[in-house]
Amino acid sequence: MAWQVPMNSSISSVLAIVLGLGLASGNSAWAQSAAAPGEAGAAYQDMPAIAPIGVRVDRYLPLPNSAAVPPVDPAKGYRLQQLGHGLYMVTDNGYQSMFLVYDKGVVVMDAPPSYSAHLKQAITEVTDRPITHLIYSHAHIDHIGGAADIGGHPIIIAQEETKRLLVRANDPKRPVPTITFKDRYMLKVGGQVLELSYHGVAHEPGNIFIWAPAQKVLMVVDLVFPGWMAWSGFADAQDIPGYFEQVAEIDKLPFKTLVGGHVDRVGTHADVREQLEFMNDVKSATRTALAATAPFVGMAAADKTNAWAVADNYIDRVVVSCVNAVTPKWQPRLAAYDVFIWSQCFAMQQSLRID
Ligand SMILES: [Zn+2]
Repeated sequence: MAWQVPMNSSISSVLAIVLGLGLASGNSAWAQSAAAPGEAGAAYQDMPAIAPIGVRVDRYLPLPNSAAVPPVDPAKGYRLQQLGHGLYMVTDNGYQSMFLVYDKGVVVMDAPPSYSAHLKQAITEVTDRPITHLIYSHAHIDHIGGAADIGGHPIIIAQEETKRLLVRANDPKRPVPTITFKDRYMLKVGGQVLELSYHGVAHEPGNIFIWAPAQKVLMVVDLVFPGWMAWSGFADAQDIPGYFEQVAEIDKLPFKTLVGGHVDRVGTHADVREQLEFMNDVKSATRTALAATAPFVGMAAADKTNAWAVADNYIDRVVVSCVNAVTPKWQPRLAAYDVFIWSQCFAMQQSLRID
């Protein structure tokens, strides 16, 4: 049929008028494009300048100075940061893990494969005591997939959901935990203490809080990204309401230093509060957009009986509205804001509609 034949915009707009298309909901300003069915058409009204998902970007926004941190020595492949009383963070400025030294050995917390080949060397800078324990923050391979690289046969501790996921994964790079717990586990080694606790699903089932009381250090991975936009889709949160609750819960704990598992520096309460404020702004902008956005606007008449198409068009415009609402305040404040803002708004509308 004629609609499938490529045509120039003047022919298509005449045809659109003849067929009564592209004039839905009294939106006379809408321009029907010449695109073939299934291809990208004219932009939505008030389309943000920030490129949406799937569109190539020539140059991303420059990172603000707040993202500047000590560099990683390329010969070593990691940077070591003292957190006090025998506790250390290891990072390659993209991933973060920790280790704790006690009188007879070392407890390792996570082994990101991005630098796990150098993890033993990092520990040797501090002590020659053996690695006796390995704690998994959660099951994801990008945080524990270097477990085999640390060598030996440490006791592996994780929440029971993490064990379930690792049994299913059957991955030799991520050995199954030897000790599991449901709600809480206290590890006392020599004079050192680590309190592990489970607060339900947010990022992934089994993702735990690791609290070092003497050091006032809290490690919770993949929830808070100090100074940075969160990873896409609220860091791939499997439960977005749970994610919002856990970020708020983190702020209530009496830590001095937060190790979030990602980006180039540790966090503070100010970082957690800033991220919470951003998240709540995305939530309220999305809630407003869901209520204010009319369905069918700009759609071809034939598509109005296609329920998936109606939803896609509506959701797109809700997300456009969310991005426009939060950009003026947050683009200057979060590193890599442009990279994932579309993804946050998209994830938020999904959650608000169905959770
Ligand atoms: Zn993860």
